[in-house]
Amino acid sequence: MTRLIFLGPPGAGKGTQAKILADILKIPHISTGDILRAAKSAGTPLGKKAQDYMDKGELVPDELILDLIKERLGETDTQSGWILDGFPRNVSQATFLDQLLDHLNQVYNHVINLDVPDDTLVKRLLGRARKEGRADDTEEVIARRLEVYRNQTAPLIDYYSQNHKLVTLDGDQSLDIVTNTLREIVAK
Ligand code: AMP
Repeated sequence: MTRLIFLGPPGAGKGTQAKILADILKIPHISTGDILRAAKSAGTPLGKKAQDYMDKGELVPDELILDLIKERLGETDTQSGWILDGFPRNVSQATFLDQLLDHLNQVYNHVINLDVPDDTLVKRLLGRARKEGRADDTEEVIARRLEVYRNQTAPLIDYYSQNHKLVTLDGDQSLDIVTNTLREIVAK
């Protein structure tokens, strides 16, 4: 049974690697960013509330995210495992998740921290902007997202290092090397 939490700054390759690994392991890939983007393009009430924050590179308020993740982790497909990508994003989301998992009798195996230097992140995000045209991949919003990561999400590295489940990987390597390292970690 594999349950993983992916940490790391925007552009670290979290989404790409989480998706590849989830396909290999046949477990759900749960990305709060994907869920929010889908809600935004469908114009649902959640999407409308989240839109401005996302476009500015700010975190969406916790009250929009916590119910969403509670519902998603309560679905039956999570019995086979999961990979969380983009959640938790701050310490209060992480404490909420701990309580929720306790309640659901689920335990995560590892927190994967993908480490990538800032200049590589910016290059990757600008490249993605050209290819995919994501609304939040402009230079100004990228800078804000990196700042939000540093201020609000990076403290989770400390939070998770306390229970010895944190694994930090060099994310500044080829896609295949990172995937293979991840496969070794989950096979152990
Ligand atoms: P991502 O695709 O994970 O980079 O997420 C894109 C955007 O969605 C972020 O910049 C936030 O505005 C929002 N978002 C995604 N996940 C979360 C979360 N766990 N908490 C708050 N906002 C989030």
